[in-house]
Order: sequence, then structure tokens, then C-alpha cells
Amino acid sequence: MKQYPAKPKKRKKTIDKNNRFDKSVLSASKYKLLDAFKERRSRTEELIEKSNVIHGKSICPGCGFPTIDEPDNYETCIICSWEDDGRDDKSDSSIHLPNSLSLVQHRINIAIYMEGFERKYTITNSIDDVIRNIKSFEEKVSNGHEEIAIDFETNLKKIFPTQNRLE
Ligand SMILES: [Zn+2]
Repeated sequence: MKQYPAKPKKRKKTIDKNNRFDKSVLSASKYKLLDAFKERRSRTEELIEKSNVIHGKSICPGCGFPTIDEPDNYETCIICSWEDDGRDDKSDSSIHLPNSLSLVQHRINIAIYMEGFERKYTITNSIDDVIRNIKSFEEKVSNGHEEIAIDFETNLKKIFPTQNRLE
């Protein structure tokens, strides 16, 4: 006898019973994307450290951009919408709320967007400009003059002074 409604198919391949994303299923190209994330993150971390300006910003563990005011305090990143619940590299496979994906899956998604974005645009190298733009976007959002888009690329275009590579 068929049961109604049909049970959703279990995603046995990527999620085990402890609700963890199984990284062993990742292809070499996905690992490359994770490396790209790591590189961008450590580049930004270095720039923030070197900078003399007091930025008061921390790196978002989801996208690697300096969008977080207080780390591990459930702030939602205005660029990638990751909620900063304290998860980082050591717990990048666990899947639980407030985020719907594991950190590693989220980073791969972001890295795919970034790859496409960087093919078309160049983001400024100045960390001061990057943070200034993030802060001014936050202000516009809180004033109701700007809205955070669901998709990552739209937010990037709104926030960063980008140069079109084709021009
Ligand atoms: Zn983020």
C-alpha cells in the first residue's frame, strides 16, 4: 500500500544520522572552492590586522568578509546571511539551526558565487574602503534606504566599489 503524503527522500549520501555533512563526498573541485574561501579569509584577516584604522569588525565565518561586529553572537551577515552561531573550522560539518546548511556547504555555495563574480568584477583591494562600504550599507539598511537581497551577488554589487573587467 502506498502511503500519502509521500515521504521525502532521505539524503543518505551527504547527511549521516548525527546530522553532519559528510566531507568525504566532496569532489576535488569543491575542495578547490574551499581553498579559495580560506585564502580570501586569511588575506582579509591579515589586512585587518595590519591596518591602523580601528575597524571594529570581525570576519564572517560564512563568507570571509568583515561584516561581524561581535563574533559568536548570532549576528546575521549582511552579505551572505550566515548567522554567526560560533561554528567555525572545527565544527564546519554539523548541520543545525539557526543555519540550514553546514558551514562547509555554505562556504562552497559562496565560493561558487565568488568565482563567477570575480570573473566579471574586481573588488577594491583597500580594506578601509571595503569596511567603509560595509558600514555605509548597514546604515542604509537600518534607515530603510536599502534592502538585503537574498542572493549574494546582488549584495556584493550593492556594497563594493566594483570595476567591470570588461570595460
Ligand atoms: Zn558572510
